[in-house]
Amino acid sequence: MAARMVVVSRTAEANNALAAALRGTGVDVIELQGPVHALLLDDDTALAERCGAAGDVVIHRKAPAWPLASNLLRPARTVKIGTGAHSVDVGGTSWIVIAGPCAVETPEQTARITDAVVAGGAHALRGGAFKPRTSPYSFQGLGRAGLELLAQARTKTGRPVVTEVVSPADVDAVANSADCLQVGARNMQNFALLKAVGETRVPVLLKRGFGTTVDELLGSAEHIMAAGNDQVILCERGIRTFEVSTRFTLDVAAIAWLKQRSNLPVIVDPSHAAGDPKMVAPLTLAGLAAGADGIIVEVHDAPHEAKSDGHQALGVDGFTALLASMKAMAPAFGRTLERP
Ligand code: PEP
Ligand code: MN
Repeated sequence: MAARMVVVSRTAEANNALAAALRGTGVDVIELQGPVHALLLDDDTALAERCGAAGDVVIHRKAPAWPLASNLLRPARTVKIGTGAHSVDVGGTSWIVIAGPCAVETPEQTARITDAVVAGGAHALRGGAFKPRTSPYSFQGLGRAGLELLAQARTKTGRPVVTEVVSPADVDAVANSADCLQVGARNMQNFALLKAVGETRVPVLLKRGFGTTVDELLGSAEHIMAAGNDQVILCERGIRTFEVSTRFTLDVAAIAWLKQRSNLPVIVDPSHAAGDPKMVAPLTLAGLAAGADGIIVEVHDAPHEAKSDGHQALGVDGFTALLASMKAMAPAFGRTLERP
């Protein structure tokens, strides 16, 4: 059962009366910035009546454990990545495309692929500098040198950059080179890392752990938001099931579920879910049809030479074809691929 919680607006006129009603009740009070006229209370009739009498508020009697991430108190909204002419709003009418290699490998590879995906229509760039790998003998990423390559790609293309951070110690360095901090599936419940990215004001792309529930995903988003950063984008990237024909099982239902309950944008990662370039387009279109606000997709100009995840990367032609399908489908969903 969720902790008994109340959210009170800092600016609502009813605050004083509500504060009096709540005094001595032991209820956790979380303050939001904007005017909020709703309270979340776990099933407590007496308290609900006291609060109802004290203020002009909507009382929700089933409090989720993630009040800040929930849409009970705050309607769905957008999260802006980047600044200036090429910034993008994730969660609006545009489907956002974040594309690039799994990992940045060399200056030439980074420049070639980022130029190609921008030419193909990507709104933002991806590429890992810090790579969490299953084997210690696999390519671990270029680390801080990779951040430098991403910063150069950002300067050259003007496009915002999304990249993973795996350690609280690197958060500041990553935030200086990128526009969005990715917390990967393997770190979704690394609470020290969630707190560290929560203490920045940089948008966070929070990927669902492959062995976690959507409730736990929102619990992790709540950790970031409770630390002070409400710029969180959720990502469904597949979970582990008994099915082994795909690398993971894309949980399409999770996308619709999250869109119905959370105020946060949700994107889909078809690359890690599929583990196969041939499955990337169908999973992309399924995720978008379920309500996703965009995609994060791996693209490589020489997939067989990639140092990580080349087996699942789209080639440049495949990426161009994917965007054409998305463009064809967008009007049916009231969406567009135009830059927001
Ligand atoms: C990645 O984006 O390259 C990655 C490692 O993703 P995930 O954390 O979803 O496995
Ligand atoms: Mn990858």
